[in-house]
Amino acid sequence: MSRLEIHQVPVLSDNYVYLAHCPETGATGVVDPAVAGPVLEAAEARGWTVTHILNTHHHGDHTGGNLEIKAATGCAVVGPGPDRDRIPGIDVEVDEGDTYRLGNAAAEVFFVPGHTRGHIAYWFAESQALFCGDTMFAMGCGRLFEGTPAQMWRSLRKLMALPGETRVYCAHEYTQANGRFALSVEPGNRELARRMAEVDEKRANGIPTVPSTIAEELATNPFLRPESPLLQKTVGMAGADPVAVFAETRARKDNF
Ligand code: ZN
Ligand code: FE
Repeated sequence: MSRLEIHQVPVLSDNYVYLAHCPETGATGVVDPAVAGPVLEAAEARGWTVTHILNTHHHGDHTGGNLEIKAATGCAVVGPGPDRDRIPGIDVEVDEGDTYRLGNAAAEVFFVPGHTRGHIAYWFAESQALFCGDTMFAMGCGRLFEGTPAQMWRSLRKLMALPGETRVYCAHEYTQANGRFALSVEPGNRELARRMAEVDEKRANGIPTVPSTIAEELATNPFLRPESPLLQKTVGMAGADPVAVFAETRARKDNF
């Protein structure tokens, strides 16, 4: 089993594309290529040749570079089977419970609908790395474009169950705006206040706030905390069902 070397490529206004490289075999995956040019350049600068694209969902800011990268490298495109018709150039369909090998590194695939109806996430246990696209963000979660709150909550719970040290490689730098909202619904969460100060400082210096860890998200991400009495109190739903509190929190964020 191999530990991946992971390189973050910031593209467009706030997207992160990831290069995941297996040093033993040279296999190199690109996670959610929004665009092709900067991703191919970043790979070349490291002497890596792209062998795979791993897509989490069909949105253009995650698949926009698929066909150009495939044409340039002959790589295999891996994506969600349930959404095969919307993944440009898909060669390999994966779904919940599948293990996909990138060189000597194995990813467990989770089906995590909510943001889109076919969204998946890739968990490389040995590398302690989770690629979760637009399902979980640092202190946030994706908008519910094609799913229900109950679906998204079930999806998030799968990711919440991963080891605390797992790094969360989400696909956008939305952290600061997410944190401002988080503070509005959990103003007394001291760990959140501490994290937000750190995030503000990083952003002021142009430093990415991603990846975080599952442990940090469990402590500060309001969308993982519908069972927090403090959050329940702010939204006026003490003791309510987690799905209902999650739905209300998501609705408030949509209008924040
Ligand atoms: Zn998306
Ligand atoms: Fe996105």
